[in-house]
Amino acid sequence: GPFRIDVVTIFPEYLAPLRQSLLGKAIERGLVSVGVHDLRQWTDDVHRTVDDAPYGGGPGMVMKPEPWGQALDAVRPPGTRLVVPTPAGRPFTHAMAVEWAAEPGLVFACGRYEGIDQRVADWAAEAGPVSEVSIGDYVLAGGESAVLVMTEAVTRLIPGVLGNRESAEFDSHADGLLEGPSYTRPVTWRGHEVPPVLLSGNHAAIERWRRAESLRRTATRRPDLLAALPEDALTDADRAV
Ligand code: SAM
Repeated sequence: GPFRIDVVTIFPEYLAPLRQSLLGKAIERGLVSVGVHDLRQWTDDVHRTVDDAPYGGGPGMVMKPEPWGQALDAVRPPGTRLVVPTPAGRPFTHAMAVEWAAEPGLVFACGRYEGIDQRVADWAAEAGPVSEVSIGDYVLAGGESAVLVMTEAVTRLIPGVLGNRESAEFDSHADGLLEGPSYTRPVTWRGHEVPPVLLSGNHAAIERWRRAESLRRTATRRPDLLAALPEDALTDADRAV
């Protein structure tokens, strides 16, 4: 069946872009199916309250556990990974996207305010994997935009979602390196030239140049990625760059 994505949020309209573009086409083609759920449908008071003051004091409000428990009872099949976006999570990476894309589906819990009562993630871990992840070292107002980021990164790795022309295997991070620069016509634009090797027709030379650009760019912009490569990932030619 299709890769199943369920999102629980207090701002369901925020997830409308899930049905656009690449992911929209994947849904139309039956490769992915998406459910967006309003957390407030699992409240039982007239005010449809989802937050309360933090135990121990301090500013802001915390999302109450009861609506989340009922929501996850309703939308999360046992064993399905629950993803909880939080700036206090482990960094979301390409490797996680690859792992998650191979699973049957994902459930996302979008926090707001100061986040969700910690017992929700702790309890949810009894029924399947739970990933508390951050999309970067900054603080957003809610998890919805993080869900858009992660679902896009995951679904483009599902077989059939990308065509051959836009294959993911050469993209940045697939081999642990950043991809080098790309060029298209014209050859000269506002005084800037396309690197001549790309016009040479010499495929071996082009491959060598691309590899060198990839290594140089990674060394300049993301030395942490170079340092994390396994011992055998770089050839002698690579090291000479
Ligand atoms: N009090 C929390 C803390 O300091 O860790 C911050 C909560 S933040 C204002 C509200 C919500 O935005 C979070 O529950 C999470 O869903 C989302 N969020 C904020 N920054 C994020 C990030 N870098 N990655 C993923 N989700 C984030």
